[in-house]
Amino acid sequence: MSIFNKLNSIFFSPTPSEKNSKSSEYNWTNIEDIQSIEIPCYPTNPGVASPVNNIEYILHRKATEFKKEKKEDLAIACLKKANELFPYSNFSWGKKDYMRVVEFLKDFGRFDEARKEEKRILELYSKYFSENKFHQNSTDENAIDTFIETNKKVFYSDGSDLVSTELTPRACTCEICSCYRGRIFSVYGKDTRFPKLPDILRKMYIHKDCMLRFSPIIFFNGDRNNFNPSYDSSISFTSSTEIIKYVNRPFIDERTEDEKKIFIEKKLREHAEIQDRQDYDWLREHLPEQAPKSFGGYRKMKNANSPNYIKLKDLASENGYTIN
Ligand SMILES: [Zn+2]
Repeated sequence: MSIFNKLNSIFFSPTPSEKNSKSSEYNWTNIEDIQSIEIPCYPTNPGVASPVNNIEYILHRKATEFKKEKKEDLAIACLKKANELFPYSNFSWGKKDYMRVVEFLKDFGRFDEARKEEKRILELYSKYFSENKFHQNSTDENAIDTFIETNKKVFYSDGSDLVSTELTPRACTCEICSCYRGRIFSVYGKDTRFPKLPDILRKMYIHKDCMLRFSPIIFFNGDRNNFNPSYDSSISFTSSTEIIKYVNRPFIDERTEDEKKIFIEKKLREHAEIQDRQDYDWLREHLPEQAPKSFGGYRKMKNANSPNYIKLKDLASENGYTIN
């Protein structure tokens, strides 16, 4: 679910008068009005805040209304304008929010435009997607240097260079990345009690999906350290000697059978969804009359292997497209 949809379900259940209180400040009658909405001066949000009164949020709401009223171009203009504003917002917006315009275009049967818009969004905005904002997900090959520099004042003022690695959540990693979980690395090899950070981790991930997370760490003298990796609650050390021994263990895939199974199932689920989306996109482009109205509807009929699904599959096949 996109951030927009989540917030919509949490915050937005207004009375009709509230509904119009903010959107009434703008003109919605033509595309030019929407395009001329200026970047607002966003107040900084301390802590948890809701963006429901932000113009980009209002634009998404208006897009939904316009879609229902079959005013396609106004709906698209709203979502494109929201994408222009997202990078300036005081709230983080994710890929799904940016891509909502692409889904709308597909719903309207405007597939060539959808493909162009998707490409344009990826080129212009992918660096602003909330999931890409952490420097742990950046394309910087030497992200670890920036990480150390950023945390210099608090963690590294004494010249130390230790980072610990965790996995969140459990069991979402492959056989390679799992070798690097539950470690303490000395980034530049200054502290020889710990393994030096391998070059492969200088960009702070091997596979983004595997969610290896880095934290700065201060390793105290004596037995004043706590080491409790989240992937295995049975591992808990306070003795410095034990911690050092543990983080130097061999770099091998030590996932349990259960973890391996969960990881494979997760990958299969992801691949199935990608394939189903591709099939659904083909169906709504080439067989718009027969395709179900929503992706959820398509998956439901597919999972049930309903007679209508079998008919649809045969029809696709007659038109040169194979659904497995
Ligand atoms: Zn991996």
